[in-house]
Amino acid sequence: NTPLAEFDPEVAQAVAAELARQQNTLEMIASENFTPVSVLQAQGSVLTNKYAEGYPGRRYYGGCEHVDDVERLAISRVKELFGAGFANVQPHSGAQANAAAMFALLQPGDTILGLDLAHGGHLTHGMRINFSGKLYNVVPYHVSDSDGLVDLAEVEALAKEHRPKLIVAGWSAYPRQLDFAEFRRIADEVGAFLMVDMAHFAGLVAAGLHPSPVPHAHVVTTTTHKTLGGPRGGVILTNEADLAKKINSAVFPGQQGGPLEHVIAGKAVAFKHAASPEFTDRQRRTLEGARALAERLNQADMAEVGVRVLTGGTDVHLVLVDLVDSPLDGKQAEDLLHEIGITVNRNAVPNDPRPPMTTSGLRIGTPALATRGFDAADFAEVAEVIAAALRPEPDLAALRGRVEALAKKHPLYSTL
Ligand code: PLP
Repeated sequence: NTPLAEFDPEVAQAVAAELARQQNTLEMIASENFTPVSVLQAQGSVLTNKYAEGYPGRRYYGGCEHVDDVERLAISRVKELFGAGFANVQPHSGAQANAAAMFALLQPGDTILGLDLAHGGHLTHGMRINFSGKLYNVVPYHVSDSDGLVDLAEVEALAKEHRPKLIVAGWSAYPRQLDFAEFRRIADEVGAFLMVDMAHFAGLVAAGLHPSPVPHAHVVTTTTHKTLGGPRGGVILTNEADLAKKINSAVFPGQQGGPLEHVIAGKAVAFKHAASPEFTDRQRRTLEGARALAERLNQADMAEVGVRVLTGGTDVHLVLVDLVDSPLDGKQAEDLLHEIGITVNRNAVPNDPRPPMTTSGLRIGTPALATRGFDAADFAEVAEVIAAALRPEPDLAALRGRVEALAKKHPLYSTL
């Protein structure tokens, strides 16, 4: 039982360096967050040792009484949080939650409608070499050229033409809310299931700051580590008892073996956090920060240098920056921000003229900084720094100094 630093200094050193990176830079990858220390503790616990194939009270291994308690807590908390009748908290990731949900609802060869990856969809919504694109017949829908919004008229026309078995609503890079009721109306019209993948905006839904898909969708999937701020993992929700049974058997034994009970413990703790007033305030600041950033990047001095905000703003935790007319491509802009200590990811914009490794866009998110305690004034300063970095001839040393000051103002994991 030699401590990590002694037994394996190489790994210990990489972990320490990553902690320092998280502490000293501004994390603005829209899908990332800082999980509370209580979640880290649950996840780093002896629960990692336990095999527990099956479900609470119906396991294929002995000695599951305590992990049963943990998993029951996670299930009841997430049901309460989202007002769902049924929850499976075992998916190891968002991708596995989607795979299991599709496995429960579909047969190989069935047709699914999903948002095109190049228009903001996720790999698991039908990308060609993902399981979803290989197992199912995928018909992609798109955002409209005119306003950048999901084109529901196209969704309806494609649904009527192709009669899909499943319509997937949800996104990885989209700055607006979806009309879940309208998606359900279209699904009902063609006899399709509606699955909403709320991975990105689940935290906003939990805080009541974004419409909930749960009353509208047959199945809702999510990750637990994005806006929700928990450990890396997935969850599947439904209100339909017959689907619940199919989902359970699609997760285990359909897709997975033993559940990660240490991660499920982390999920339970995260759901408790998500029910608190502090969490709601954090989500409110997340939205405020994203709006401040969108407003700043939408100003005339940015348009003059070819920087635009897709859809003209945001209703969620991220901003999509369009660099099609900028001399900077997505990769150069990502590297430039990295140089001053801000981490974002480049992102293709719809109909992107540049190749996927370069792209003409940035996806910038505010959840992690809101978790750090950033308020409206801090986000206004972040927005000014990013705007200055994307304009010609930025003073990188000065901008790096402003980033360091913000990081110092909001210490992270100071007890670790
Ligand atoms: N669904 C959506 C909408 C996502 O954005 C992501 C991750 O980016 C996933 C699913 C997959 O989650 P994971 O990376 O945990 O497999």
